[in-house]
Amino acid sequence: MAVRKKERLADYGLNSERVLWRGKGAGVFEQELGDLEDRLMLSTVDKAVAWAQGSSIWPDTFGLACCAIEMMSIVSSRYDIARFGAEVFRSSPRQADLLIVSGRVAHKMAAPLRQIYDQMLEPKWVIAMGACASSGGMFNNYTILQGVDKVVAVDIHVPGCPPRPEALVEGIVRLQEKIKAGVPPAYEIRGVAS
Ligand code: SF4
Repeated sequence: MAVRKKERLADYGLNSERVLWRGKGAGVFEQELGDLEDRLMLSTVDKAVAWAQGSSIWPDTFGLACCAIEMMSIVSSRYDIARFGAEVFRSSPRQADLLIVSGRVAHKMAAPLRQIYDQMLEPKWVIAMGACASSGGMFNNYTILQGVDKVVAVDIHVPGCPPRPEALVEGIVRLQEKIKAGVPPAYEIRGVAS
C-alpha cells in the first residue's frame, strides 16, 4: 500500500495550521520539513531558530482595561504560563517579543501603543485580547478605536469579554504553533497604517 506523503503541517499534528492557512499549498518550510525529516531525519537551522523563538516569547508589560486583570493572572500558579516559556513580562519594549493588547484602546492611546510597538525589536508578535481590542466591543463610539489592527499588525485574536485566562493561554500556544511552523509575523504578511 502506498504511503501517503505528509504535505501539510496539519499532517504533523499542528491543528491550527489548517485554520490559519486555509487553501494554502505546501510552503518552502513545509517542503523542507518533509524532504529533510522524512528522508534524512535532520532539523534545519531555520526550524531550530523558530523553535527557540516560539519557546521563549516574552510579553511586554502593557495592560489597558478589564482584560488586563485576566492577563495578569496567567503568571499565577493556577495558569502558570511559565510552562510555555512565556512568563517573563518585560518592562521595556526593547526586551519584549509579544504585545498583548488587553482592553479597549482609546484614540488618545493609539499613538503611545504604536510607539511601544515600534520600539519592539523584530521579530515581534501581537495578540488582540478580548472583544474591545479586536473590534471595539460594546464601545461603538467616537472615543474608542474599532479594532487595534488599524494601528498594529495582529497575529492572534482572542475572543471573549473578558476572555478567560485559559483562552489567552490558548492564544499564546497557537502563536507558538505558528512561529514553530515558520509562519511569518503578521507585519510581514500585511501592512498597517504608519
Ligand atoms: S473585552 Fe470586555 S473585559 Fe475586555 S476590556 Fe472590553 S469590556 Fe473589558
